[in-house]
Amino acid sequence: MWRDSHLTFASLAHHSDQVAQYLLRTGSPGSPVVVFGHKHTWMPVCFLGAVKAGQPYVPVDSSLPVQRVMDIISTSGASTVFSVEPLADAPAGCTIVTLEDLEEICAGDEPPPPAESAVRADDPFYVIFTSGSTGQPKGVQISRRSINNFVAWALELGWDERPEAPQRYINQAPFSFDLSVFELMMALASGSTMVSLDRGHVAKLGDLFAALGSSAATVWVSTPSFADLCLASESFSAHLLPDLRVFLFCGEVLTVETARRLRDRFPAAAVVNTYGPTESTVAVTSVVCSDALLDAYAVLPVGTPKPGTDILILDEQGAPLPDGATGEIVIAGDTVSLGYWARPDLTRAAFGQVETTEGIQPCYRTGDAGYVRDGALFFAGRLDFQVKLHGYRIEIEDIEANLRRLGSVVNAVIVPMEAPGGLGTVSHLHAVVQLLGDLPASPLRTTIALKAELKGLIPDYMVPKSFSYVNRLPLTTNGKVDRRSVKASVS
Ligand code: AMP
Repeated sequence: MWRDSHLTFASLAHHSDQVAQYLLRTGSPGSPVVVFGHKHTWMPVCFLGAVKAGQPYVPVDSSLPVQRVMDIISTSGASTVFSVEPLADAPAGCTIVTLEDLEEICAGDEPPPPAESAVRADDPFYVIFTSGSTGQPKGVQISRRSINNFVAWALELGWDERPEAPQRYINQAPFSFDLSVFELMMALASGSTMVSLDRGHVAKLGDLFAALGSSAATVWVSTPSFADLCLASESFSAHLLPDLRVFLFCGEVLTVETARRLRDRFPAAAVVNTYGPTESTVAVTSVVCSDALLDAYAVLPVGTPKPGTDILILDEQGAPLPDGATGEIVIAGDTVSLGYWARPDLTRAAFGQVETTEGIQPCYRTGDAGYVRDGALFFAGRLDFQVKLHGYRIEIEDIEANLRRLGSVVNAVIVPMEAPGGLGTVSHLHAVVQLLGDLPASPLRTTIALKAELKGLIPDYMVPKSFSYVNRLPLTTNGKVDRRSVKASVS
């Protein structure tokens, strides 16, 4: 469900069969299919149509600037784009299927495509693009087998005993963010309803609360930031959502304060913290945040791994560390990605194989720092320049690379600013910029101009909130930009 549109399972089956037949007639086997839009009920139709035709889908949110969308379409090599919302431009040779075309295709009455046409267990089911450090997004490929392994576990989360009755899942994240895979796949796998909220709801709290109030939701899936936004209103409570029984969180730190407020306002609902990167299919660890757990820890654990996953904590040389010691979190097991689409170099750098209790397993080096204590995994920040801002994953080098693409910018450093007492949580991004020529006569006007230019290249949420200008950026002894001293100068 999205706004006034409803998509029944019968329509989903029929329409996606038609889309699959269309792709089988016209498409290129195995080539990704881009689905462009925002929360539209036609998007899941295109996702399923693509995989029924043996082609992975690439969800692209329409909030992205055109240039970024073009980069994703080109990198994916897609020959078909289902443009559920109008798309301003498209790479040469790419077929654009508009909403009107889609309605025409789906009015057809072709039989379901043969089961052998569908994506096979170990082939990519979807490719989700995330921020990449070179300024170009990178596509994470997830296989059908990984989705199945993930969903079997996800369906049980938060329930002492999972009820038979279908659920009503809240969908907050755009389909281009893999958090949405939680509720989309759980709804599909259990014959349940998914109620989608869109960015218009988030912009107008009145609309958001009206949508929540009529959702009859039983399971909530969101980033903790989104729950904080809702918690700012007193009316976000069990009165608004009387049937809610499970909160599932992933994507960023869940604080004790947020979890406690939710426990107070929704006494009948379990609050579950889960952890994982897109590269290992949404989430791989979980913990129910009971009142006892909230009393016991100032920083919440992210939990224990799902069956089929091993968590290793390794030192810089790749040697395992004992419990309590902080090292890099390495995820091994049956939901690890097939690697980055068309980027064997990036794949080699981040993925590998390790020996686990289950035998040799594929593994992913997360770049997250963590440690194991009391049998549970704890997240302890990043080892690189990736940050989470309001739940969005951002490589700060991605912003810097795009700033350098602007004609007036020589170099730039992005400083993630932390909220006071926020346990390392980023409150906003600040850009320190070296311009071509002198310092700007009007920094305010320059900032407005740079922000406007940047919005043409990167998503709004990546555009730094504040800017300052320097004649030159400080360098370390080996000639790299000295981020530490830049940070000290703005903190
Ligand atoms: P994404 O690929 O957008 O899901 O982002 C994955 C990253 O988000 C992880 O590598 C972590 O840095 C962070 N993350 C995910 N879940 C949690 C969590 N429960 N607590 C803290 N950080 C998290």
